[in-house]
Amino acid sequence: MEFEAVIGLEIHAQLRTESKLFCGCSTRFGSEPNTQVCPVCLGMPGVLPVLNRRAVEYALKMALATGCRVNTNSRFARKNYFYPDLPKGYQISQYELPLAEKGEVLIEVEGRRKRVGITRIHLEEDAGKLVHGEGADSRYSFVDLNRAGVPLIEIVTEPDIRSPDEAVATLKALRDILLYLEICDCNMEEGSLRCDANVSVRPTGETTFGTKTEVKNMNSFRFLRNALEYEIKRQIEVIEEGGKVVQETRLWDPSRGVTVSMRGKEEAHDYRYFPEPDLLPVPVEEGWLEEIKGGLPELPAEKAERFVREYGLPPYDAGVLTASKHLALFFEECVRLYPKPKVVSNWIMSEVLKELNRENKDIKDSSLTPDLLASLLKLIDEGVISGKIGKTVFEEVYRTGKDPRKVVEEKGLVQIADRDALKGIVEEVLKTHPAQVEQYRKGKEGLIGFFVGQVMKKTQGRANPKVVNELLREALS
Ligand code: ADP
Ligand code: MG
Ligand code: ZN
Repeated sequence: MEFEAVIGLEIHAQLRTESKLFCGCSTRFGSEPNTQVCPVCLGMPGVLPVLNRRAVEYALKMALATGCRVNTNSRFARKNYFYPDLPKGYQISQYELPLAEKGEVLIEVEGRRKRVGITRIHLEEDAGKLVHGEGADSRYSFVDLNRAGVPLIEIVTEPDIRSPDEAVATLKALRDILLYLEICDCNMEEGSLRCDANVSVRPTGETTFGTKTEVKNMNSFRFLRNALEYEIKRQIEVIEEGGKVVQETRLWDPSRGVTVSMRGKEEAHDYRYFPEPDLLPVPVEEGWLEEIKGGLPELPAEKAERFVREYGLPPYDAGVLTASKHLALFFEECVRLYPKPKVVSNWIMSEVLKELNRENKDIKDSSLTPDLLASLLKLIDEGVISGKIGKTVFEEVYRTGKDPRKVVEEKGLVQIADRDALKGIVEEVLKTHPAQVEQYRKGKEGLIGFFVGQVMKKTQGRANPKVVNELLREALS
């Protein structure tokens, strides 16, 4: 029997506000524990929350960017549960009437485009963090409440996703939008973007859903993919062995490469949601919404479409270049200076991204500028260096931020196109390979490549291939 997976994601994104959701404490990451706290976020009796307008604005940006319908007076609710990182004993979240509903995000997997529905986007506060002691402190757990009260949006998708690849693409597409909007830094290691995945399987062709499990808190794309692959296989095996998948919450254990049960349905939390009595409904006036809509930047999908239209790029290139706002900017600036879009795109997708990925860096944090790449490409066009040498020069330019022209001079990499200079080398190559020369003359013309290669070797790749070809053909005919 063939099976298909059904997946829905719940994504938490930390909003990049200066202060917390209901108090004025700083949201800065990495400060000394418990230095960014006050009676409100510590949950002292008698305090009152005051909603951060900027957080609402950011959440609205995401709602509009994903085509959601905005509720003009959404409500906050108390989600009650006991855990030592939650000072009030409840989290202020949204439940029955979220900020926004019914949007969508577009993904592309193996050239196939698809729409993934967004069920809802709501605002909520983050909890603190437990730190388990080590060494002499191993008997203790500590709590750091700097993160308590930091604003989050939770984005819930419809169960429209059908494979781990599509799940990763969905999370990436949402991350790209968050980054374009500059409302979340999406640093998964620091926890500012986290993902829970709900997954079930069913026989292909079946129209009703199977029983789902929820895999909690994955903080990398790789974990999301691996956990889903594991969980899908596990569920199929359970069913094939005649068993039933039980509804439960599971955790991904990256060191063992397995998901493990955390709690079953019977131990599931009963959150006893009720309306937050200390906060009014969130008023979103039409004028404000229009203003936010007007200020939205060009989003990744629109930008990719424009790149295809305006620069004649293949959709694949456009997708890669627009995944990062800064990379897209870099590309456009480069094309302004050197108007051959496909050449620029090729260089960015191969050489530039190779270096950036190796260092796990964004283009904005590197010393490479559009100006430097454009100058390098011009040197190749002018025939000063070959394309191959260009790659060597690129590495040096990338590393040092030096002018490519200088690098070429300093390293003596100027291309040799002078016929007289190359003639001697060509003759020498032919003299040292008499057998190949004979074969060539008997009709094995493919050997021309071999001779060109030998000349290149002798000149450390600096010979102009066109001139070498001409000289070889002359000498051999
Ligand atoms: P719960 O009440 O258990 O939290 P929800 O209906 O709120 O479930 O859905 C939570 C997430 O699970 C959503 O992303 C949704 O798309 C997804 N989901 C719901 N049912 C299934 C299913 N049978 N298989 C996979 N994912 C599902
Ligand atoms: Mg839910
Ligand atoms: Zn506070």
